Amino acid sequence: MKTKTLRQDKVNVITLGCSKNLVDSEVLITQLQANDYEVHHDSNEKANIIIINTCGFIDVAKEESIDTILQYANAKKRGEIEKLYVTGCLSQRYKDNLEEEIPEVDAYFGTMELPGLLARLEADYKHELIGERTLTTPQHFAYLKIAEGCSRTCAFCAIPLMRGKHVSKPMEDLIKEAKFLASIGVKELMLISQELTYYGLDLYKKRALPELLKALCKIEGIEWIRLHYSYPNKFPKEVLTVMAEEPKVCNYLDLPLQHAADGVLHRMKRQTTCQEQRELIEYARKVVPHLAVRTTFIVGFPGESEEEFQQLCDFVKEMEFDRVGVFQYSHEEDTSGFLLDDDVPADVKAERANKIMEIQQAISYEHNQQKIGSILKVLFDRKEGEYFIGRTEYDSFEVDNEVLVNAKENFVRIGDFAMVEITDAEEYDLYGKVINV
Ligand code: SF4
Repeated sequence: MKTKTLRQDKVNVITLGCSKNLVDSEVLITQLQANDYEVHHDSNEKANIIIINTCGFIDVAKEESIDTILQYANAKKRGEIEKLYVTGCLSQRYKDNLEEEIPEVDAYFGTMELPGLLARLEADYKHELIGERTLTTPQHFAYLKIAEGCSRTCAFCAIPLMRGKHVSKPMEDLIKEAKFLASIGVKELMLISQELTYYGLDLYKKRALPELLKALCKIEGIEWIRLHYSYPNKFPKEVLTVMAEEPKVCNYLDLPLQHAADGVLHRMKRQTTCQEQRELIEYARKVVPHLAVRTTFIVGFPGESEEEFQQLCDFVKEMEFDRVGVFQYSHEEDTSGFLLDDDVPADVKAERANKIMEIQQAISYEHNQQKIGSILKVLFDRKEGEYFIGRTEYDSFEVDNEVLVNAKENFVRIGDFAMVEITDAEEYDLYGKVINV
């Protein structure tokens, strides 16, 4: 029997940015391991080959990516590492500039150049591994990327420049991938893409997300299916019917709205109005009981007047979202927004972002107080200090609320579900006791 001889090289893959980038890193790691590389992820493990999977979304993300590249370029100059490769969105968008400014990097690759990167490492691209992945997340949940790219034209967004037009993954491949993930112990699938509700329009000439959800619900072992990055315009309402009927589909809707003043929505090219957004959320809450709605807003878009910002504040107060994230507008070249004057001062942007989060903090506190005494199903992600920490179906990983149970009085296994009685609540955290595992 041929013994597997690991190559002497050790690779460390550094992932920056979003969950879609994380999936790309997982695919890369899987391919490298299949070529007998020892691979680590975001580790302090000493490695002689570093691969940085970058983010190029907005200024702060770009800065983080460039700082990380410089950090390892200096390590290479000091002889601490041998090879440095850069891939991902920043590399896709600024390859020529980066090659000029940071020549210590051995090679830069775009977002669709995995085979090229592997070839550079004398590794073969193993087609038979499509649909299989080494997870970098805790083993009980995984991201399922159902499409690549985006065909929308939001004025502030550079993603289509880095990821191209929307390309749906064939449903049979996604089901095969989900079955593989279930076979390695995944219980929660987080469906992601740039624009989830567009799924199928290119491949099947129809919005096929409802059909995909029903098929994924049939997979044994998968207990929760969560939807991320939906889009309000032409939202396929049948998704909500499936969510209401299928217990495996979390009553959770991540629906970035970006703004609520019609003038700003129009300048952002969001193809929707405040009233349409309001009606969609009211309809969703009617069809799906106890639905948790997560959204994100951008403040400081060119021309955002005090009055328009006030309209956004009023909307956040009125709609009482369960989860809210806020970004400060970043003036991204080559987007249509770049043609507008970035006239909202940085301190005003920061002030407005804080204002929205202040409003939301009070809403979140009220909502959480109402959960005291309720019994919720919780999936436990980790133990930290004296607490086991998990999430309800209303909370996604890293971005939403958490449930904390005291480890001295309760015992749960990481990756297990347990019923928890909520005994106390803060703005963003719930406390409770396990009533049965
Ligand atoms: S939907 Fe809009 S914001 Fe989202 S990735 Fe596409 S263009 Fe960007």
